[in-house]
Amino acid sequence: MKMIKKAAFYTLGCKVNQYETEAVIDIFLENGYQIVDFSEKADVYIVNSCTVTNEAARKTRQIARRAKRKYSNSLVAIVGCYTQAFPDEVRNIEEIDFVMGSNNKAEILAKAEEMLAGKNINSELKEYQQLKEYEDLKLKSLSNTTRANVKIEDGCNQFCSYCIIPYARGPVRSRKKESITEEVKRLSKQGVKEIVLTGTHLGAYGSDKGNKKALAQLMESLTEIKSLKRVRLSSIEGTEIDQGIINLISESDIFCPHLHLPLQSGSNQILKAMNRPYTVEEFKKTVAKLRKKIPDLAITTDVIVGFPGETEKTFAETLKVVKEISFAKVHVFPYSAREGTPAAKMEQLNGNIVKEYSKKLRLANEALMLNYQKEFIGKTKKVLIEEVRDHKTNLLTGYTDNYLKVLISGSDALKNSLVKVKLEESIDPYHLSGKIIN
Ligand code: SF4
Repeated sequence: MKMIKKAAFYTLGCKVNQYETEAVIDIFLENGYQIVDFSEKADVYIVNSCTVTNEAARKTRQIARRAKRKYSNSLVAIVGCYTQAFPDEVRNIEEIDFVMGSNNKAEILAKAEEMLAGKNINSELKEYQQLKEYEDLKLKSLSNTTRANVKIEDGCNQFCSYCIIPYARGPVRSRKKESITEEVKRLSKQGVKEIVLTGTHLGAYGSDKGNKKALAQLMESLTEIKSLKRVRLSSIEGTEIDQGIINLISESDIFCPHLHLPLQSGSNQILKAMNRPYTVEEFKKTVAKLRKKIPDLAITTDVIVGFPGETEKTFAETLKVVKEISFAKVHVFPYSAREGTPAAKMEQLNGNIVKEYSKKLRLANEALMLNYQKEFIGKTKKVLIEEVRDHKTNLLTGYTDNYLKVLISGSDALKNSLVKVKLEESIDPYHLSGKIIN
């Protein structure tokens, strides 16, 4: 009897990594592998790594080591961003059988099979600057039909001074429009209700081909897919939103009125030190332009606190700007130096100060979230039911198009459907209650 080979995957990091792991899992499934949980016995363990912080890299090492110690006869590989940015560090991990970088993920299976057959493989990695082609991986089977990430772009040319990503992902490469629309069409026909367009630097989509309007053109093509219900853009730079994108979000029902625009700091001095390509004034102008055209728009953001050079004054500026802009949600990132980046060589702040600033900004965020919720109490919104929170009490959870999380009573059968809900009250900054209406 032929033994079925088993593979297990562990993904760290962002939506792009999640998308890529799912596409690689499809390749293993097509080749007769059974996919098992990472804690179970498998022939091959693949860790799709993250390197965005020192902590993410540490966790990557820990997970890979644990697998090898538990199942010493199995193959263990670390692939992706961490390997690409720090190849020698990863190769030095004794427990690892092979490594691969950020490209050629479709070849992971072939490399694993060669090793299982006792052959030596070439584990040379390309330099990040040489990653020139977009690797067109595809999603086939689905682990979740409520929401699916669709990757449209890889790489970043921005080199923000705190960020290791350009060294891990290489320069901007865009996926062909036809390949994206074909995938979105297929996924929506398979029942996926919400598509999230993702990329390492989403707003740079098409810039490698000299086409600054490429994202708007792609979005325009998506409006022709009849089965498509909802499309959300993942994080995008305010500087990269053109009028075409604004018009599409305001005029077409499928695009969620939700934009995640990373501000990072409310101080021009810190933005400059971060090598961010805008000033606070320019950011505010973009927000005003967006709000004028898209009234219910949720603008969420990322802010890094405690960047080198941050003072009470710059932090106070950030706090003020965040409140003035009145974000729907602020993700607070206490700055932690990533080895290999220019900012890691700058003079670092005391950890307690960073903690104190983070706490203050988190408190401000909770007040902003409650404010944003308030605007919608009493209104009716469509909610995509994602989860059955409690079978006994029939408690369901889901998101509105403008990313408000709602708790509703209703039947389990409503999971993965869009229902009309009257938003009733705020439970806490993160949840509203609502009632299904017919
Ligand atoms: S834009 Fe800046 S923060 Fe975003 S991936 Fe590129 S370098 Fe990193």
